[in-house]
Amino acid sequence: MSFLLEIKSLKSWYGASQALFDVNLEIKKGEVVALLGRNGMGKTTTVNSVCGLMHRYEGDINFGGFPLSGQPSFKIAQNGIGLVPEGRRVFSNLTVLENLIATARDGDWSLKEIYNLFPRLEERSYQLASSLSGGEQQMLVIGRALMTNPKLLILDEATEGLSPTVRSEIWKVIEKLKLKNISILIIDKSLKQLLELADNFYILEKGKTVWNGASKKLTNEIAQKFLGV
Ligand code: ATP
Repeated sequence: MSFLLEIKSLKSWYGASQALFDVNLEIKKGEVVALLGRNGMGKTTTVNSVCGLMHRYEGDINFGGFPLSGQPSFKIAQNGIGLVPEGRRVFSNLTVLENLIATARDGDWSLKEIYNLFPRLEERSYQLASSLSGGEQQMLVIGRALMTNPKLLILDEATEGLSPTVRSEIWKVIEKLKLKNISILIIDKSLKQLLELADNFYILEKGKTVWNGASKKLTNEIAQKFLGV
């Protein structure tokens, strides 16, 4: 079986402090995989390791059959991993349009598709990104990641801190992306939404993968034990 993303025995450090001890995770092409765990268990660190943002890690991270180890983050992005990081980082002094085209690459996703997905971005094309609401900024970051035409989209807490209305808009967009067979790794606090959407689940505890399986295997007991919900 060949995986789009394969993480084996991943260990990562912030300086001298070890954050990941044994993370294992696999994503097949077209799959939506959710990465779960309580706060501070290592979800963002896992994503940062994949995206070349950790200074030190050990273990294997293979993407499309090739090792990512040692590659700088811009190369990893060019190879087809689009990250929507925690905390909505837009280029605030650029317009919406400039944000979208800044890192665009050829492929199915062009400006037209992004504006279809998020009509509000089209209405605000010439506004500075800094003038957008939080929800609109999140749409912009997702749009910008899609404009790179990634083979894998990573969403780290994409609905965090947004109003219920905007949150449900973002979930609808993620559902549409799934229908288009985009491979997605998603971190989110809403287990309910993830259970409806994701094909496969991984749970981290203290920097280790402690459980994985499909949604029907993720029982209340497991959610209670590892997630406290
Ligand atoms: P959250 O949902 O709170 O973001 P998480 O599961 O994404 O949690 P991480 O942010 O990956 O967890 O954190 C994993 C561990 O690494 C935690 O113990 C955290 O304190 C530590 N850590 C995270 N960022 C840093 C940093 N920049 N420097 C040092 N330690 C860090």
